[in-house]
Amino acid sequence: MKLLIAGNWKMNLSVTDTEAMLSELKNKTRSDDVDSLIIPPFTSLDAARKLLDGTGIALGAQNLSHEDDGAFTGEISADMLLDLGVSHVLVGHSERREYQKETDALLNLKVKKAVAKGLIPILCVGEKKADRDSGEHESVVGNQLKKGLEGVHTTDIIVAYEPTWAIGTGDVCKPDDAQAMAAFIKGELKDLLGTDAVRVLYGGSVKPSNVKELMAQPSIDGALVGGASLKADDFAALINLGEVQ
Ligand code: PEP
Repeated sequence: MKLLIAGNWKMNLSVTDTEAMLSELKNKTRSDDVDSLIIPPFTSLDAARKLLDGTGIALGAQNLSHEDDGAFTGEISADMLLDLGVSHVLVGHSERREYQKETDALLNLKVKKAVAKGLIPILCVGEKKADRDSGEHESVVGNQLKKGLEGVHTTDIIVAYEPTWAIGTGDVCKPDDAQAMAAFIKGELKDLLGTDAVRVLYGGSVKPSNVKELMAQPSIDGALVGGASLKADDFAALINLGEVQ
């Protein structure tokens, strides 16, 4: 499966910053062997699409509403994202699970809405440190998958394994442990969807210096990257799997 490197900018980079970053990224040599995706804040989607046109880099959003339209102040619908040229959408990033208290039941509605509208949802799953220390990590992630994908019957989805203790901490998951969890997730997907031909990404402190080893793991099909996706040099190096061009 072709690797996918996805950059989640979170609540960073204004429209002006987006234009500067993507103009620089466009001029960097990037490998065609790897698919890439930029996931900026909603406010930068339009500017990003204009700059990404013709580059082969896809555009994603960080969230969507499970509703179609109407009186939902502050929400953004799937159709609004499609209208801006968005192809992928994060669902259930651990920061939204924690700070916005998004539940597995709500995330299941969001996954289903994205799929129904033709967006590719990237369902984020991952355990907390205490779950890993107590050996509960597989049951926590298995449960998130089961609930998040209930009633979903498509392989046009992506799963991102992001242990919360590795996100933004510099404390990257050991490649063996990330591989073991990615293999576990593929086994669960086979049970839930009847196939494991679904990309499984790893996320959590991925950097140019560690991306190659993580991406060499047989069950890992790409990376979801926060901090190291904000600078053109770093993101280009990630797409080149750590090789600085
Ligand atoms: C993320 O935001 O999904 C993430 C993995 O962040 P970081 O790469 O900064 O750990």
